Amino acid sequence: MRRIYLDHNASSPLRPSARDAMIAALEKGMNASSVHDEGRQARFLIEDARAAVADALGTDAEAVIFTSGATEANNLALTPQMTLSGSDVAFEKLFVSAVEHPCVLEGGRFDAGQVFQVPVNSNGIIDLTALEDMLGSAGGRALVSVMAANNETGVLQPVEDVARIVREKGGIFHCDAVQLFGRADISGLDADLVTVSSHKIGGPFGVGVLAVRNRGLQIRPLIRGGGQERNQRAGTENAPAIAGFAAAVRSAALDEIGEITYMRDAFETGVSDLPGVSIAGSEACRLPNTSLILVDGVGAETALIGLDLQGVAVSSGSACSSGKVGQSHVLAAMGVGTGTAAGALRFSFGWNTTMDDINDAVRALERVISRARDRQSAA
Ligand code: PLP
Repeated sequence: MRRIYLDHNASSPLRPSARDAMIAALEKGMNASSVHDEGRQARFLIEDARAAVADALGTDAEAVIFTSGATEANNLALTPQMTLSGSDVAFEKLFVSAVEHPCVLEGGRFDAGQVFQVPVNSNGIIDLTALEDMLGSAGGRALVSVMAANNETGVLQPVEDVARIVREKGGIFHCDAVQLFGRADISGLDADLVTVSSHKIGGPFGVGVLAVRNRGLQIRPLIRGGGQERNQRAGTENAPAIAGFAAAVRSAALDEIGEITYMRDAFETGVSDLPGVSIAGSEACRLPNTSLILVDGVGAETALIGLDLQGVAVSSGSACSSGKVGQSHVLAAMGVGTGTAAGALRFSFGWNTTMDDINDAVRALERVISRARDRQSAA
């Protein structure tokens, strides 16, 4: 059976360019800290990759710290102690939007009692007045972490406004740009710290970046015991994965986004005609590749399995890392009731999606919904 993979926000399939770059690097397979020629070749790959990622992030190569992924990069960024322009700074509080990825909501190296959630509106957009008020009454310097785009709904946050407010209050702004990276030009993203991940853009698993765009800032390492990454992240670099990531960055040409947007719109037009289907966050600016649909009266788990049996891979809006369907904290923060949220299905498109995939997925969803409704009326 033909498989249709529409779960690019979970992981985007490996791009051929990334696979080729990884295989070439694996065949060399040397330690980039070694001084011999083999080591220097690995070093070259890593520094070339650093330049590619820095370019895409609109920053200097020195700003780029390679990590094992975005989860680690976020944990590295969210620390109560940093150095700013040579002086130690301590953050007593961390403010995060209520719709962040769990690896931000957990607060990194902050104690649970130091982490405060800023509410969002019914479209999932951060309440800027609440952020301003919370920062105003925080006392002392604050660290703020707000994502660029939500992984479940695709809703974009007003990061420029967040950056302005945080600066006015003397804080530091971290932005988890994992879902926006490769899907829009983020070279002008005005955040002190930016996180991106490789496997969301068709690069390999196990590599991500924290970019310290504010060049006066220094982060305390999370992983110690080696001088790699300018003493900011110890451990032998994963040169093949890093080379694969860079190849994916270079291949993620923004012109593919136009086509993806067109297909996403066609998908939404198709599903909007189905009975009881609505689109979460539809009033807001969203990622060009994401549709979180709410299917009235049909459980996401049933729909997921029904779609999978027809060859269509999607995820539940509330799929948690264990693979089970749980309550979505994102939809809860948007005020979506548990009944409605139980029917949330995320379709996310990417570099290898075709118009045939879109048409077949709409038809498969139509069959799943109509069978579920038939069963309900027979019961
Ligand atoms: N942040 C966001 C917004 C994500 O969507 C994800 C992955 O689901 C992560 C962070 C974690 O990324 P990684 O798998 O690279 O650790």
